[in-house]
Amino acid sequence: MKKNLPQNTSIRRPLLLLLIFLSMACAQIAPQTDVATVTQLAATSAPSPISVSTEQLAEASPVPQVTEETALPTPVAQPGELARSHVEYITTHIGARLADTQAEIETAQYIQTVLTKIGYTVELQPFSKVGWVGEDEIETRIRSNNVIATKRGESEAVIVIGAHYDSVDTALGADDNASGVGVLLELAAILYDLPSPYTLRFVAFGAEEVGTLGSYAYVEALSAEERQQTVAMINLDSISAGDTLYVYSREGKGALVRDWALAWAAENDIALETIRQVNLNDDDGYPTADHGAFQEADIPFAYFEATNWTLGDQDGYTQVDTQYGEDGAIIHTTYDRLDYFDATFPGRVEERLSAVTRIVQAILTDFKASE
Ligand SMILES: [Zn+2]
Repeated sequence: MKKNLPQNTSIRRPLLLLLIFLSMACAQIAPQTDVATVTQLAATSAPSPISVSTEQLAEASPVPQVTEETALPTPVAQPGELARSHVEYITTHIGARLADTQAEIETAQYIQTVLTKIGYTVELQPFSKVGWVGEDEIETRIRSNNVIATKRGESEAVIVIGAHYDSVDTALGADDNASGVGVLLELAAILYDLPSPYTLRFVAFGAEEVGTLGSYAYVEALSAEERQQTVAMINLDSISAGDTLYVYSREGKGALVRDWALAWAAENDIALETIRQVNLNDDDGYPTADHGAFQEADIPFAYFEATNWTLGDQDGYTQVDTQYGEDGAIIHTTYDRLDYFDATFPGRVEERLSAVTRIVQAILTDFKASE
């Protein structure tokens, strides 16, 4: 989500450095998980992580090379486990990743590297758009990239699976939105070898927190025919920390994917709720997340988020009991970190990442709009 909450500017560098150090130490002693899957991954992977297209990145600042090839997460057995390892990597090896910074570029490269290793031909979609930055929402030109991988399905009609990879500069953004990116990358790995009725476009959006710029850049680049062919957009944003897992959509025809997901989750004993007629705009009427550009183009969306609509101002921004986080808010605060979630809500992150991975995988393999 992009809406500005009171921001705590005291992110603790020493803590961040300690986390990075610990994670690097752990990465070195971590046992290889599964020989078969590692071999399988190696067989389909490009030898050099980012040789593909660093020049294609928007001409922002100089581009660093990702060298820790062996530290990249590898497929594991339980749904959500791979997603979690991506959250760990992004929040410890990169950290906060404000739009149009070196850290955001590094995150794009990480996503590109992971998708390339799975076997995808990755497209970068550079864009330059005016957004707003900081508490005072200063209008600023932002350069960033969407990172896109396409899996051909039985039909040329498309489902977009989207998650933004930038964060605010004052939070590690484990929930907002490494969690969505982690599930997107896990789904991209799972779906690579599975048949799907629709063509799937996995899109990691840049520059969401400064005005949902990446999703607008993506939709604006679609031709009228391509818009017509886009059956639905699934938005994954802040899905791991809040009390309750929700899926939102428009009503009527725009609710097809949401209602399918609610029914599938109920049949499979996964807790998933919705809020009908929810206001997903901020005070200025601007969409609070990446579904907005698709909604404006009349493309149905299903937007997954974990929060708690019964607490606080009942506006979806109080995610947990007010004794936790900053008055119940996690996103855009220094509480948006895995170690805090694990200590405060043991097992929640695993449960959520598993739930969203399973539900969205089911949509991508089984949902058909004509049914
Ligand atoms: Zn977000």
